[in-house]
Amino acid sequence: MIRIGFDVGGSKIAALALDPQGRELARRRRDVPRDYAATLGALTQMVDDLVTAHGAAVSIGIALPGMIGAGGELIRVVNLPWVEGRPLRSDLEQAVGLPVTIANDANCFALSEAVDGAAAGAPVVFGATLGTGVGGGIVVAGQPLPGANAIAGEWGHNPLPLLAPEDGPPVACACGRTGCIETWLNGRALARDFARVAGRAADGPEIAGLAAQGDGAALAALARYQRRLAIALAGVVNLLDPDVIVLGGGLSAIASLYSEVPKLWRPLVVAPEPKTRLVPARFGAESGLRGAAWLGRSAAPDS
Ligand SMILES: [Zn+2]
Repeated sequence: MIRIGFDVGGSKIAALALDPQGRELARRRRDVPRDYAATLGALTQMVDDLVTAHGAAVSIGIALPGMIGAGGELIRVVNLPWVEGRPLRSDLEQAVGLPVTIANDANCFALSEAVDGAAAGAPVVFGATLGTGVGGGIVVAGQPLPGANAIAGEWGHNPLPLLAPEDGPPVACACGRTGCIETWLNGRALARDFARVAGRAADGPEIAGLAAQGDGAALAALARYQRRLAIALAGVVNLLDPDVIVLGGGLSAIASLYSEVPKLWRPLVVAPEPKTRLVPARFGAESGLRGAAWLGRSAAPDS
């Protein structure tokens, strides 16, 4: 019996079939039709293709960016307005005759890492993505936590406390607020900070590379970034007290985060000896898709 996961973004639908041990059997990719009925039809056809090629499926999971209710309600779906408010879960269940679960893509990322990734088996996992946006998802006892408002784990739009003058002025966030954690910790934030002090442009990975070569401006920008990340994550640790925090997104590739940030959050966490581990994602950009395939795993056991 296979599990099928979808990661649906603004332009592409990615599909993955996993065997019961989490081994990848097949993947598919196609454009997203910009219409509800055609999107439903595309998902149905991709399920049929994968089942024909790899045998019966036990469950279908879909990762979508935005606010997804505990019952799969599509409250707000970023870049896919034609599915908002539509009964995609029940329509797809009816079309394919299988249980369908829909969750926020950051929750799917956290689930993937909690099931068989960098936080495998940990009771409480916070998955944080540091990319263009700063998102997060919570998994407790192997299940994603959507929350009463479908925003559990959305730490990126809290304000960041304890800023220092060297962090520079706050900037407007895509959400309409100013000074959100996202605006201090996304890829642009690191690039902006470096450019402001160094007077030259570089992106996140380039700054990390320059820092590794001993470039003073890059080292300083990275140190300021690590301090801001530690402040933001200390808030998560004090609130949720996760066993593991898994980082994904482009900036999660910066190796020094994993040694430096836990040292920096230590004085900010109320526990005297914080045990929370900070680790990079095992599956990286694939985690949203793998987590989608793992959705519904307790509801539909393989054996
Ligand atoms: Zn914001």
